[in-house]
Amino acid sequence: MRAIFKGTILSPISKGKVLFIVPGYLVTSEQGNILEVTSDNPREKYKSFPFYDFSDRIICPGFIDIHNHLSQLPLMGLSDNNLLTWLNKLVFPCEGKFKSQEIAKQTADSFFRQLLKNGTTTTSTYVTIHKQATDLAFQSAKENGVRAFIGKVMMDQEVPGNMLEDTQKSLQDSEELIEKWDGYDNGRLRYALTPRFAVSCSFSMLKGIGDLAKKYDVYIQSHLAESNGELKLIQKLYPDFENYTDVYYRAGILSEKTIMAHCIYLSGKEIKILRKTGTKVSHCPTANRFLASGIMPYRKLEQSGLTIGLGTDVAGGYSLSMFNEMKEAIETSKMINFLNSEKQYKPITVEEAFYLATLGGAKVLSLEKETGSLEISKSADFLVIDYQKLNDFKNRDILSNARNILSKMIYLGNKDIIEQVYLRGKRVI
Ligand SMILES: [Zn+2]
Repeated sequence: MRAIFKGTILSPISKGKVLFIVPGYLVTSEQGNILEVTSDNPREKYKSFPFYDFSDRIICPGFIDIHNHLSQLPLMGLSDNNLLTWLNKLVFPCEGKFKSQEIAKQTADSFFRQLLKNGTTTTSTYVTIHKQATDLAFQSAKENGVRAFIGKVMMDQEVPGNMLEDTQKSLQDSEELIEKWDGYDNGRLRYALTPRFAVSCSFSMLKGIGDLAKKYDVYIQSHLAESNGELKLIQKLYPDFENYTDVYYRAGILSEKTIMAHCIYLSGKEIKILRKTGTKVSHCPTANRFLASGIMPYRKLEQSGLTIGLGTDVAGGYSLSMFNEMKEAIETSKMINFLNSEKQYKPITVEEAFYLATLGGAKVLSLEKETGSLEISKSADFLVIDYQKLNDFKNRDILSNARNILSKMIYLGNKDIIEQVYLRGKRVI
């Protein structure tokens, strides 16, 4: 795996800062880690290393999609009136098919392949209630080389009969999958306990999940405050709780290793609980618009000190492209600012969107020491991007700074501009 890659280096440093080196050199070790990121030609120093010249290409870290549903891949682009009818009419029948191992494996293979082609090298993914399908999803992630958090969906109430689980059996299946897969291949594969949302989980199931998470020190992923209809159901199902977040809090499932997706309708009190427990947030702007759920007040949550990353939420979202997710994040943040008379919520910049899709996502998953940016000793998970495809006029001045390149990539980019994808220094696309 050891090699020298020459190209335009573009890597996040913070929400507002980007490392930009032209020409830059990325040096990778035998083990697939980053040895150097430099503007000094390192070919003398590493004489025996193979050299790859991508002088007219961007080299940037692989993207991190912290929320998606592998099983909903066939539903991409199909919406309905709202979240709850969409779940009942489209999602549950689709996920029910994962009883078939053939469908489960085929879909998982296609999903991880498409994910990599879109430049996503790390993912946090839901499967279905089926243990076997979840096991096959791990198999497929292993074969495709993706860095992944994966979990079996858990539901023991308020869903159609064929999707209803026995509480204890669901916990037991999850525990067996944790023992088999969590930490596999030097931690490249991790288990994430996956209660769909409090609507479809009893309080005793949620408590059991909290206990399992502590016992094995694993992540939990779920949904929170995505739509108005969902909030009404929560009030009906959990009348003795102060609010939606309180259900998760009292069940003991909020911690630094918990990712809550959407978080559109949260009170100040609820935001404080998320902050206090260190709970992470997955911002899924595409899905929030596509299912007409609402707009997450990103800046408000960010200013409250929450750690946030981006999730495509396929198939609540219609695209696996993180370019699209960055674009939606920026555009919806402009709407929030526009609609707010005091204008205190500044829109997301292109640098910040790039951060959220890379290093920000890594922080949500506690992987910031391993991936998410091009830095010494991190895993060499990176993309080679032909950004000239975004610039038909061959006017190099336009693309002479990081902001313009990021803007072109985010607004005009799709998987076609991603030429190569590397994981731990090894080319996988
Ligand atoms: Zn989701």
